[in-house]
Amino acid sequence: MAQSPTTSDRPHVASKRYIYAWGAGTAEGNGTMKDLLGGKGAGLAEMTLAGLPTPPGFTITTEACNDYFNAGKELSAGLWDDTVAAMKEVEERTGKGFGLAANPLLVSVRSGAKFSMPGMMDTVLNLGLNEETLAGLIALSGNERFGWDAYRRFIGMFGRIVMDVKAERFDEPLEARKHVHGAGAKDTDLTVEDLKALVSEFKAVVREDTGREFPTDPYEQLDLAIKAVFASWFGKRANDYRNSQKIAHDLGTAVNIVTMVFGNMGDDSGTGVAFTRNTFDGTKELYGEYLVNAQGEDVVAGIRTPEPISQLKDEMPEAYEEFVRIGNELEAHYRDVQDLEFTIERGKLYMLQTRIAKRTAAAAVKIAVQMVDEGVISEQEAVERIEPAQVDQLLRAQFDPKAIKSAERIAKGLNASPGAAVGRAVFDADIAVEWVEKGEKVVLVRVETSPDDFHGMAVAQGILTARGGATSHAAVVARQIGKPCVAGCAELVVDYGTKSARSTLTGTSFAEGDWISVDGSTGEVYVGALPTVEANFEEQPELQTILGWADKIRRMGVWTNADNPEQATQARSYGAQGIGLCRTEHMFLEGGRLPIVQSAILVANVATRAKAKVAAGETLSADDQAAVAQFDAAMAKLEALQQGDFEGIFKAMDGLPVVVRLIDPPLHEFLPNLEEQLVKVTRAEMSGGASEEDKVLLATIKSMHEQNPMLGLRGCRLGIMIPDFVKIQTRAILNAQVAVRKAGGNPIAKIMIPLVGHVNELRVTRRFLEVEADAIAEAAGVDLDYKFGTMIEIPRGALTADEIATEASFFSFGTNDLTQMTFGYSRDDAEGGFLLKYVEDKILPYNPFQTLDDAIAGLMKIAVDKGRSTRPDIELGICGEHGGDPESIHKCEKIGLDYVSCSPFRVPVARLAAAQAVLATTHDK
Ligand code: PEP
Ligand code: MG
Repeated sequence: MAQSPTTSDRPHVASKRYIYAWGAGTAEGNGTMKDLLGGKGAGLAEMTLAGLPTPPGFTITTEACNDYFNAGKELSAGLWDDTVAAMKEVEERTGKGFGLAANPLLVSVRSGAKFSMPGMMDTVLNLGLNEETLAGLIALSGNERFGWDAYRRFIGMFGRIVMDVKAERFDEPLEARKHVHGAGAKDTDLTVEDLKALVSEFKAVVREDTGREFPTDPYEQLDLAIKAVFASWFGKRANDYRNSQKIAHDLGTAVNIVTMVFGNMGDDSGTGVAFTRNTFDGTKELYGEYLVNAQGEDVVAGIRTPEPISQLKDEMPEAYEEFVRIGNELEAHYRDVQDLEFTIERGKLYMLQTRIAKRTAAAAVKIAVQMVDEGVISEQEAVERIEPAQVDQLLRAQFDPKAIKSAERIAKGLNASPGAAVGRAVFDADIAVEWVEKGEKVVLVRVETSPDDFHGMAVAQGILTARGGATSHAAVVARQIGKPCVAGCAELVVDYGTKSARSTLTGTSFAEGDWISVDGSTGEVYVGALPTVEANFEEQPELQTILGWADKIRRMGVWTNADNPEQATQARSYGAQGIGLCRTEHMFLEGGRLPIVQSAILVANVATRAKAKVAAGETLSADDQAAVAQFDAAMAKLEALQQGDFEGIFKAMDGLPVVVRLIDPPLHEFLPNLEEQLVKVTRAEMSGGASEEDKVLLATIKSMHEQNPMLGLRGCRLGIMIPDFVKIQTRAILNAQVAVRKAGGNPIAKIMIPLVGHVNELRVTRRFLEVEADAIAEAAGVDLDYKFGTMIEIPRGALTADEIATEASFFSFGTNDLTQMTFGYSRDDAEGGFLLKYVEDKILPYNPFQTLDDAIAGLMKIAVDKGRSTRPDIELGICGEHGGDPESIHKCEKIGLDYVSCSPFRVPVARLAAAQAVLATTHDK
């Protein structure tokens, strides 16, 4: 299928060309023009150029939308004249007349932005109907019911979207009419008389709620509808959606005015949505659903439960064959899975939309690998097509199979979006947000969702609906934002009034606040909170294949932050190529070690001073001697324990580098809280006296108390003031290396000194640690193989990196502290305080503790350049939280780091992101 860039010049009254038309085999736009025409407009133009059956129409550009808002919600001068002229063309192409009773042209007015925003903006169907054109439509179709049904739909839709009448105001009379035909009656049970009555009732609603008559002039309808579609760009749900998907707010939406074709003209008509491959699990098959005798909104809104697309083969074989052929052509043309919307009007197929299909993470990796195998795309394209968040999703928890066996399953619906969700049931999107803000986990339960529920869906653990199919709003949105979803769970009767749901299968009910578990991979719903198990990376061959391709592309290494052998082993199985940060302080807290650490800290200052006296030739008092003995005994125990820790880690990472960071936090973190200890001692004193031990502990805590501990005695400063802590750590690391090597292993040790702001801090520390290292080498009779390096996490350190590099064989950017100290935001407090408001109010574009701020990246670049200026082969990495964030990884690629280091679970994501960063950088060039 050829994509010909037909962009003929078009006469226009407005100062700019705002209109691109298509029809009768030609189009003025084409598939590449998404910025201007939006995805839908570009797709319709492209399909028309390719000779596919599309209903004639035209697109009003995104530029017109932006100009409309810039002019204070006024259509640009001349745009209306151009619109009317374009309508005349559509009239010519269809042989119908807009407002012409004898042969009426009806149109849909559809939103369509550059990026697909399913259901987030507005669309009006059947526009152009009034009493006269309705009569014509009925005469032409010979189908009175169809005509009245179209008319009542139009008034309801136009009333709601364009005239701001609340949806319930139309729902109430509709439900009342249906109810006459019995409980569970469908729209299709309504008679012509019902529909006629509904039209009058709907018009009365409009009159009561807006104070005006429903507009009958088709051109007035068109004018109002265009403006309403523009306005929906800044509607709440569209805004929320763009925020969640990081879509720019200034793109604007195009408006597509498309000749109506009718899927509700009888049993030889229908409408549907289908994907050229299964977007749930990646199987190569046409996947979708359709409804006979229905309009598009019925499929998307989940009002009726649609049939699987395969059934169309039996019902309308010719239309089905043509649809399959077109689907294949479109997929081959766009080289990706297509999401197709079609309508069959009296046996004739019309294509209404084609776009790249959204898909689950599992489908995304399967399809990408399939398409490489089929020779459709390259390995590189496959890597580019997977979103880092999808890799993340594939590593998400599932329900524990053992727990499922004994769990109370109450219903089964459609497995609409995979993953396990556990939370308290809530039945309203606003309540979901409220509860989540209070720290609760929720599952949003609805009869069906609408775009107005998006904010609740975005914060919920998962979504459960009683109605709707695989292409219902709940399903499409959940898949896209990566939330588990069970949809169309017909066995569940949801009652908003009592805020509860009841299973017709088991009779079990649950109410607001009750825990439920929903499995979006199987469609199962359980009461209670089921335990989950981690996803199994080893059992996902396609994911591994993609990551293998990513490894061939990426330049940076991917290391991990791991503090024990279990984490190291986990990370290694995910593909980690080293440990970039082993935080040793955690080892001080494990398995009953705290009392040993505390006993050392209690006498640390006295003992350290006493040791200085000895070095100066002084003799020690009995107290001093006791302090030194207590200190050394505790330290010896710690040293032995830590050596064991390091041996385990070296074995787990055999042959790969292990960066061990020497103790970093202030010592008071290992002692009880000052206030608690004060209360304990005061209480004890009031009732007979506190123990000597508690009083000494209180005095020690007080003596170590600092106003700003994060800026106080921590990192290398602590090592300089009380050297024994880092000395025993260095000995433990190097003795572990000797031991593992003797046992035939290949331990690669790198010792990292944190929080260096001045080269002298590093120099001094290195010198006394080298003395320890030399002693070990001599005692072991071997040459040790280790390197000293430092963290760059203080702005002064970054700015003097050339000096610091003379003493460091590697730098690892501690971007947590670097962000804290460059912004002057406390990393422990900011996120619980002002920072989220800053992000919400756009004072900051994003949370800089999650994604590397550009100024910090700039500071890192200075450090990279300066570091390499004095030590060209210096090894450069990052170990702050940013090391696992895809956007930050791109920035690390740009500034030329050698590796990123992140928590074990983010290693696969980082492998992909590092490859994509290379590809993006190449594209930039
Ligand atoms: C950092 O500051 O970025 C870092 C990795 O160290 P920590 O988080 O332990 O302070
Ligand atoms: Mg730090």
